[in-house]
Amino acid sequence: MKIAVIGLGVLGAAVARSLALRGAEVTVFERHAPLAGTSGTSFAWTNSHNKNPRSYHDLNVAGMAEHAALAQHSGAAPAWFVRNGNLEWAEDAAGTERLAASVAELLDRDYPVRWITRQQARELVPDLRLAAPVEHIAHYPDEGHVFPALLVSRLWGEARDLGAQLRCPARVVGIAETAGGVRIELSDGSADADAVVIAAGRWTEALTAAAGHRVPVADPDAAGTATVGLLGYTNPLPARLDRVLTTPRLNVRPDGAGRLIVQGLDLDADADPAAPPAVDGHHAADLIRRLTDLLAGTEGARLESLRVGQRALPADGLTVAGFLGDTARVYTLATHSGITLGPLLGKLAARELLTGSPEDVLADFRPGRLLGRTGLPPLQPARFAGQQ
Ligand SMILES: Cc1cc2nc3c(=O)[nH]c(=O)nc-3n(C[C@H](O)[C@H](O)[C@H](O)COP(=O)(O)OP(=O)(O)OC[C@H]3O[C@@H](n4cnc5c(N)ncnc54)[C@H](O)[C@@H]3O)c2cc1C
Repeated sequence: MKIAVIGLGVLGAAVARSLALRGAEVTVFERHAPLAGTSGTSFAWTNSHNKNPRSYHDLNVAGMAEHAALAQHSGAAPAWFVRNGNLEWAEDAAGTERLAASVAELLDRDYPVRWITRQQARELVPDLRLAAPVEHIAHYPDEGHVFPALLVSRLWGEARDLGAQLRCPARVVGIAETAGGVRIELSDGSADADAVVIAAGRWTEALTAAAGHRVPVADPDAAGTATVGLLGYTNPLPARLDRVLTTPRLNVRPDGAGRLIVQGLDLDADADPAAPPAVDGHHAADLIRRLTDLLAGTEGARLESLRVGQRALPADGLTVAGFLGDTARVYTLATHSGITLGPLLGKLAARELLTGSPEDVLADFRPGRLLGRTGLPPLQPARFAGQQ
């Protein structure tokens, strides 16, 4: 079967690999470059925090397990995935109450989490500075983080080894179902396939509309909304941190070779993709101050870049995975949490495309629920607080 994939972010790479593994003839069409979209600017923490309804939580837990399974086939220490866990705590009464409720819900769902002491936290992160009198820290041992470029190299490299082709730059401007398959109209030509997978992230709405079945996504350009997020990338630093920390004022994770990625969720309100803040501006200074308060070994740190990430957010906040229309020729994959879910969604989509048999875990995430809907309320940033 000849399958076209539109987009080479994490989702496009994952579905291309799974399709190629099952013997499909795959061509990926990428407008700019691999990782040109959201996958190139992501905190990339694998988790299932505050993910509701229950089926969405379960999907994310399965996504985490799929990373672990993929890592097992990548040698003892895969370059793209670090599963060293996450530490989280709160410092005020409201935050403590929220965290306690979240941990209780996760325990109720049998999600691996335990309370540890300050001393235990310091054993895990020797450079941790805990200025506030925090006594209880939530430790999530099965969580981790991904280096998205290396994850895409892992997925797309394997797809390429199996014969998948990349056309880049190649901008898809139209998708038309024909008697025998699908015609993909490009800005300079066309291509034919038996089926197409739209894995175009925040451009999903335009591409699904081009196929005649518009799936609404939240406006990725709207400053200060749930779709935008500010990420700071530091210079290499001699701080001992090998895992994710999600703390009241700063989220931080290693980004390889001593660099760290920092994120202050309250600063997202100022994030505007049209006017990213400067690396020597007050947002950067604030992030650096928070970092030095949190970790020893970060004195003199600076940001090498400060980027505004733009989330791919289907209009109701949940994943979209499935065929558009009745012909089983145009399939769409779009999700927030695409790092956690990428390898899993790629596998499930490939199975559905090649066998035609529906995967139960995707039942709540079909595009039909959103097709053609307009006037959906904007997604509130608060709903995504603590969720990535
Ligand atoms: C600040 C921030 C923090 C995040 N943190 C996390 C986290 O901790 N954990 C997590 O799981 N997720 C996180 N995410 C979300 C995650 O990064 C995304 O869900 C994921 O990267 C989306 O991948 P994708 O492949 O769907 O889209 P993209 O990476 O955007 O890829 C889509 C590709 O399609 C191409 N394309 C678009 N239109 C066309 C066209 N017409 N023709 C050809 N090609 C086209 C684009 O050029 C692009 O390369 C975060 C996102 C942000 C912004």
